[in-house]
Amino acid sequence: SVVTRFAPSPTGFLHIGGARTALFNLLFARHHGGKFLLRIEDTDKARSTQEAIDAILDGMTWLDLHWDGEAVFQSQRAERHVEIASAMLESGHAYRCYATPEELTELREQQRAAKQPLRYDGRWRDRTDWPADAPYAVRLKAPREGETVIDDLVQGRVTVQNAELDDMILLRSDGTPTYMLAVVVDDHDMGVTHVIRGDDHLNNAFRQLGIIKAMGWPEPAYAHIPLIHGSDGAKLSKRHGALGVDAYRDELGILPEALSNYLLRLGWGHGDAEIISREQAIEWFDIGSVGRSPSRFDLKKLENLNGHYLREADDTRLARLVAPRIARLIGRDPTPDEQALLARAMPELKPRAKNLDEIADGALFLFAKRPLAIDEKAAALLKDDALTLLGQTHDALATVSDWNAGAIEEAVRKVAEEAGIGLGKVAQPLRAALTGRTTSPGIFDVLVLLGREESLARLADARK
Ligand code: GLU
Repeated sequence: SVVTRFAPSPTGFLHIGGARTALFNLLFARHHGGKFLLRIEDTDKARSTQEAIDAILDGMTWLDLHWDGEAVFQSQRAERHVEIASAMLESGHAYRCYATPEELTELREQQRAAKQPLRYDGRWRDRTDWPADAPYAVRLKAPREGETVIDDLVQGRVTVQNAELDDMILLRSDGTPTYMLAVVVDDHDMGVTHVIRGDDHLNNAFRQLGIIKAMGWPEPAYAHIPLIHGSDGAKLSKRHGALGVDAYRDELGILPEALSNYLLRLGWGHGDAEIISREQAIEWFDIGSVGRSPSRFDLKKLENLNGHYLREADDTRLARLVAPRIARLIGRDPTPDEQALLARAMPELKPRAKNLDEIADGALFLFAKRPLAIDEKAAALLKDDALTLLGQTHDALATVSDWNAGAIEEAVRKVAEEAGIGLGKVAQPLRAALTGRTTSPGIFDVLVLLGREESLARLADARK
């Protein structure tokens, strides 16, 4: 049965390309009722950090990319990698190479001067006159004739002449396994049947197949997916705002289901479906529908999707997510009562928002202290006749004892009618006085949310 894996190197944050690779691996495995495994490729001790490991695990958890079983740490498997290299030495599929670093540098310089490809020349391939006590590397004895073919599930058939692949190192002369060896051994031991990863690894696949064939292990199926590009068509980089998954959450206020849906659509499609739930994605996902050309990252599209998921999201959950953003704006945590109020206000706050910060900003009027800070546009509405009107509205509202939307609306409409003007003419200064702004949720909702006492106090303030 199907086994996939995500194998990040913990040298930085979980970027969106990695998250998408993980998502595709998960969907493929779930679609086939198989397993989705996680392997942390932390063999580069100098560049791997615990912080990066945490960021990867955290980002995957946030995006609901749950792997099966325990995460495998590649660094803990070095012994097993060495064991396989030794077995290959034994079987003649690998050999000892005593070439010194100086020698290899010289070889490369000659090749460079002769404009030849830089490749190890196999000088120790058939030698057995091994110097005593000298350190040696273990190299794969790769076939020199013929070709290696990969029927990639995304790229189609890709062929490389074996003459172009040199005898790569499996174990360095200090005894440490190389990345190529480690990936192959780990994939084999984890029972990986499908390797789905970025197409920057396609060249590695040919080399890795060399080891797999030498060991007589089953070859996994490969699917090398195109990288994500920026809106200008260049490979996605920090310049494009390529951020860690955590930044989409913390800085951009994106919901995980929105990012997940966006990443899915980035390079994969099912008809013209845009909004795709995880369940649907699992049902529909097929690696053959992954496009062959790079997809372009489009923040606008992500924000539109996010807007959709915000409208769908549970209001109590949104209030919890928005609360820390409000805390940053007002300099204190909202009280439990305020958080409950926030949840009640959510149906009015979320319809136009594209991210959590926009919701927080829209909710600020609920937290404002009197006397209200009135912005310039709103202040322009609080003059002359409007103030008289506000006074009348205040007095009309003061007679409303049962503070509900219906009663409030009736009172405000009556003011407009008696003044012989449209409701909008009353609502505008009312909004300015109650929120300090010219945009807000519907004015009756604002009055209900603020409550009778606070509403009347704000109106009285504006009249002064
Ligand atoms: N560790 C590699 C990376 O982060 C991925 C290796 C693989 O998927 O085979 O790029």
